[in-house]
Amino acid sequence: MNGLSRRCLLAASGGLLGVGVLGLAATAAGGEAVAPRRKLKIVVAGAHPDDPESGCGGTIARLSDAGHEVVALYLTRGERGIQGKSLEQAAAIRTAEAEKACKILGARPVFADQIDGDTEVNQRRYADFRGLLEAQRPDVVFTHWPVDTHRDHRACSHLVYDAWLGLGKRFALYYFEVLTGEQTQNFAPTDYVDIGATEARKREATMAHVSQNPEEFYPLHDRMNRFRGDESGCKFAEAFIRQVQAMGSDLLDHGFPSSSWGG
Ligand SMILES: [Zn+2]
Repeated sequence: MNGLSRRCLLAASGGLLGVGVLGLAATAAGGEAVAPRRKLKIVVAGAHPDDPESGCGGTIARLSDAGHEVVALYLTRGERGIQGKSLEQAAAIRTAEAEKACKILGARPVFADQIDGDTEVNQRRYADFRGLLEAQRPDVVFTHWPVDTHRDHRACSHLVYDAWLGLGKRFALYYFEVLTGEQTQNFAPTDYVDIGATEARKREATMAHVSQNPEEFYPLHDRMNRFRGDESGCKFAEAFIRQVQAMGSDLLDHGFPSSSWGG
């Protein structure tokens, strides 16, 4: 093991990767999926189709390869994301793109059915979203970092955080970044995941969002993946901020002895 890969592994073992817990290290070393100690339920909540993919598609692929169940939870169907199309038409096109991307990453899409560009954060939406997340019984949730220039990204993050509080902080919570500098702001990572083995699938899944001209925006994500790789000693990495006080984070540290949902 050279110095670089060692550093990456160590950086990872301090947080999300939980080497041997999520089974990710064994996957990276051997190139084959290994049975996880316990199958985890992971929810990746993004505001629009393409956010979970571009924010942590490499990590999603690694988790599903390791035998965990991953749900991509889209707050909207990207209704305002295609010029010249009605909200319904755009939603249909982008739903199909999200389904294709999820297939590539080994995730299952779920839609929260708010409207792109018009997401709401209020008592009813908090309750609805909390109910949606509670029904998934996640062990780990990923979502947008709340300081972001896009209102829908902020809304998504606030809904997740409020649900996390309301559900007793019982799952691990990590924030991902999208187009840092342009969208995500003030992002100082606490954890990194080496996505060298899955970067190609992340790229393919993001490219599945044909309506969004991914050939124009993916190079920005490519630069981020390489930069986070440089920071953590890998070729490509995704970076995260870990929410403190999460019950699931302790479980990750201690090998997930049981589900925090009592099942
Ligand atoms: Zn977005």
